[in-house]
Amino acid sequence: MDPAAPPAHDGAVSALARTSPPWWHGPVQSVYPGVFRLDRSLGSNGYLVEAGERVAVIDPGLDWGAGRVLRELASARVLEKVTDILITHYDRDHVGATARLQAVTGATVWIGRADAEVLEGTRRAGTAYRRLLARVPLRPFPGRVQRLDGEAEVLPGVRALPTPGHTDGHLAFVFFEVLFAGDAVLGDDRTGLTQFPRFITTDRAAALRSEEVLRGLGATWLCPGHGRVRELRRPGGGDLPAPGP
Ligand SMILES: [Zn+2]
Repeated sequence: MDPAAPPAHDGAVSALARTSPPWWHGPVQSVYPGVFRLDRSLGSNGYLVEAGERVAVIDPGLDWGAGRVLRELASARVLEKVTDILITHYDRDHVGATARLQAVTGATVWIGRADAEVLEGTRRAGTAYRRLLARVPLRPFPGRVQRLDGEAEVLPGVRALPTPGHTDGHLAFVFFEVLFAGDAVLGDDRTGLTQFPRFITTDRAAALRSEEVLRGLGATWLCPGHGRVRELRRPGGGDLPAPGP
């Protein structure tokens, strides 16, 4: 695949989504060529991306939603095609199902280094609320983990972007016009993007800087960790308005 051009709607997953029977609960919500939102994951939004020969799941969701995700991917006959799992950050509602999905697919897991260390227990979680949650360790911990320290192209056309604030090692992923924001931002009807509450924000100043970076990307589609997928640019074009007071 030429990473300079968006993929056409002719991948295996796309074809299946077009021809799926009405009873099928697969990744039917096509967001963009090669991008699907999972229907069955729990806790946070999960996505599927076809990037050349690679197929990645972004944020497979809560531990106890793992079976649902595996069944959804199997129904779509894409489970065996999954090569990578991209994690935006260490919160359990995003990362919990990772180990089970990896055990079945053998996929490589990508996560920010600081967040991997929190999951391993070698780094302190960023807020009092999270330290309470961290008393229940993530078991089993995923096996093959690629820890990212900076910006990197993790798959053809998929860029990982450090977006600290919600967590220290938070990553957003960018695929052509699509921004997978994790919990770096929430969608907002007025300003396009907004922040999470402070009690689950590790570093508010860093979070606001990350928001500015994401605004500057010029992405058309926001695939957030929570809430609906939304178009960011107004029909007439132009940048997002600045956040209000
Ligand atoms: Zn989170």
